[in-house]
Amino acid sequence: MLNLNETHNPSLRSWVASANTNDTDFPIQNLPFAIFRRAGHGESYRAGVAIGEHIVDLRAAHKAGVFPMEMTPALKTLYKPRLNKFMALGKETWSALRLHLSNSLKEGAPQSAQLEACLIPQAQAEYKIPARIGDYTDFYTSIHHATNVGKLFRPDNPLLPNYQWVPIGYHGRSSSIKVSGSDFHRPHGQLKAPDADAPVLEPCKRLDYELEVGIYIGEGNEIGSPIKLDQAEDHVFGLCLFNDWSARDIQGWEYQPLGPFLSKSFASTVSPWIVTMEALAPYRQNWDRPSDHPQPLPYLDSHDLRNGGAVDMQLEVYIQTAAMRAEGMEPERIALSNFNQSYWSISQMVAHHSVNGCNLKPGDLFGSGTMSGPNPESVGALLEATVGGREPIMLGHGEKRTFLEDGDTVILKGHCVNDNAPKIGFGEAKATVLPAKEV
Ligand code: CA
Repeated sequence: MLNLNETHNPSLRSWVASANTNDTDFPIQNLPFAIFRRAGHGESYRAGVAIGEHIVDLRAAHKAGVFPMEMTPALKTLYKPRLNKFMALGKETWSALRLHLSNSLKEGAPQSAQLEACLIPQAQAEYKIPARIGDYTDFYTSIHHATNVGKLFRPDNPLLPNYQWVPIGYHGRSSSIKVSGSDFHRPHGQLKAPDADAPVLEPCKRLDYELEVGIYIGEGNEIGSPIKLDQAEDHVFGLCLFNDWSARDIQGWEYQPLGPFLSKSFASTVSPWIVTMEALAPYRQNWDRPSDHPQPLPYLDSHDLRNGGAVDMQLEVYIQTAAMRAEGMEPERIALSNFNQSYWSISQMVAHHSVNGCNLKPGDLFGSGTMSGPNPESVGALLEATVGGREPIMLGHGEKRTFLEDGDTVILKGHCVNDNAPKIGFGEAKATVLPAKEV
């Protein structure tokens, strides 16, 4: 577990005024990473850190002499259009850079004049997927989601017997994971109505979002060398927002016996910003397993897990339909959940994934699985919110939805806050459903 240090001090303020407002996602206590460039300038993509409404251009800051010499090798990795090499350097390096940035951005810092010239307004930036995601694994860690979905298929036996023992997951596809703002076309696929003799190839009619947390691996492990539970978070760089778009009708026909395939691989959306595990230290909660549930096997249980293994991260889904956009209406919130609902922790996902010797690599991405809470307003997918498409949700201005329509924009947001720490946010993961292409 990471301890609190001076970078988490809630009274810290920045000389960047926009970092000190109550509504910013990016106060000085956050300092998340992205890969960005100024739009329309023909620049190369590189790493930046968010502060208020700005981005610290780390390449420019390094060249301006803001950092000590001994940090040069680490900073050189941040010139690249991917964070993988920086992620591979490990938590001492990430932490040293965070501390130096915090000291340089706080009120009264002697570096402020040099560093001010290295700030770029986020309004002028465009982003890229922040890491080369070699492998992507999607988990299924909300027991509420697993139960709600299970009920639709097996009313008498919603939760399969392995669920409470194994952090369930499958290996997904990374090539179609795109950064926020990458709109995508409604996918085609094989659809088969229950009463039809044969499937047809048509555009998906039951398109859905999935509210998930993305987990980026930092330092990897050698093949054959499992990561122990209490070292697992040393291998995690940080968290992002993750929308695992899902074609429920394609999924329903194709998923047996090997699981999801083309119903998931057409598009997924990540937020540009990765909030580091160190930044999340003030928002940890105890991980618990109800005493009448099976307790984890020893390799998935520890004192540290029980004392701070969960993350209190509020998660939201917003929708803006084409009609809302045309009338200038703001997106409407349709779900509020929390990552602390996860039945399995980040450390358990890492430990279980590697227990067979599987090697994780810097930049690999885990999806948490749809992070539904126990209440109707906290479910993270339309499949659950509409009970399999049977009960439409009503939007405030009179439209209703069972599944997504063309022109719908879905926005995921996330933030952490408590009595002892300021609000830090994750920005957003946003994309719009475009009409199906001809095939
Ligand atoms: Ca998923």
